[in-house]
Amino acid sequence: MRIFIVHAHPEPNSFNGALTRAAEQALVAAGHEVVISDLYAMGFNPVSGRRNFTTVRDANYYRQQAEEANAAVHGGFAPDIQAEMDKLFWCDALILQFPLWWFGLPAILKGWVDRVFASGGRIYGGGKWYDRGVFAGKRAMCSVTIGGPPPIYSDRGLNGPISEILFPINHGILYFVGFTVIEPFLVHAPARISDLERQIYLARYRERILDLPQASTIPYPKLADFDVHHVLKSN
Ligand code: FAD
Repeated sequence: MRIFIVHAHPEPNSFNGALTRAAEQALVAAGHEVVISDLYAMGFNPVSGRRNFTTVRDANYYRQQAEEANAAVHGGFAPDIQAEMDKLFWCDALILQFPLWWFGLPAILKGWVDRVFASGGRIYGGGKWYDRGVFAGKRAMCSVTIGGPPPIYSDRGLNGPISEILFPINHGILYFVGFTVIEPFLVHAPARISDLERQIYLARYRERILDLPQASTIPYPKLADFDVHHVLKSN
C-alpha cells in the first residue's frame, strides 16, 4: 500500500506530530510505502494566485479555474503544486492529519487544497466528480485532534455533531474528487487527558492505519442516485 500523509501542525512535538510518526512507523514496519507532506516544515505557501502556474491564459483578469484548465492542458502547474499532485496520483490512500481549528481545516491545509485540487479535469471537472471522480478507487481519511470532549460534539451537544462539522471536508473535498472516505479517526481533548489515555489513542491509531483497506467508510450516495437536477431520486 502507498500512503500519502498531509500533515498540518506547526509544532513537531504536538500530539498531531505523534500521530503522524506513529502512522509512519507502523506502516513502514508492515512493509508499506509512506510519503509525508509536512506543510509547515516545507514552508508550503497556502495562498492561491498566479504563483500556482507557470502558464498564463489571461494576463488581465485572474480566474483561477480557467488558469487551472489551461495549465492542465499545457503542463503549466508550478513545481510545488505539481509535486503535491504527483503524490496524490501515486498513493493508494490519503491521510489528512490536522487539529480542528475554527470548526475546520487549519488555513495552511485549506490553502493546500485550494491550490492543489485543480479543476479542468486534472483533479476535478469535465464530469469527473464524486464516484466518477479522478481518485475513484483510492481511499482517504481525516485524522483529527479536537480541543473539546465528545459530549459537546454529540448530536445534542453545544458545538453540534462532529460528523456535520467534518462534512465539508469529507464530502465537499475528499468525496468530491472521488475518494472513498473512511470514517475519521478522532482524538478528543489530547491536552486534557492522561498520558495513558494518549498512549491508548496512539495504539488505536496504529491499528486503524494498518486497517485502511478494510476500515469502514462513510456511505455517501452515488451520482446515479440523483436526478438531472442533482436531487436524490425518490424510490
Ligand atoms: P498538543 O497540545 O500538541 O498535545 C496535547 C498533549 O499531548 C501535550 O501534553 C503533549 O505534550 C502530548 N503529547 C505529544 N506527543 C505525545 C506522545 N508521543 N505521547 C503522549 N503524549 C504526547 N478546538 C475545538 O474543539 N474546536 C475548534 O473549533 C478549535 N479551534 C481552534 C482554533 C485555533 C486557531 C487553535 C489554535 C485551536 C483550536 N482548537 C479548537 C483547539 C485545537 O483543536 C486543539 O488544541 C488541538 O486539536 C490539540 O492537538 P495538538 O496536537 O495541538 O495537541
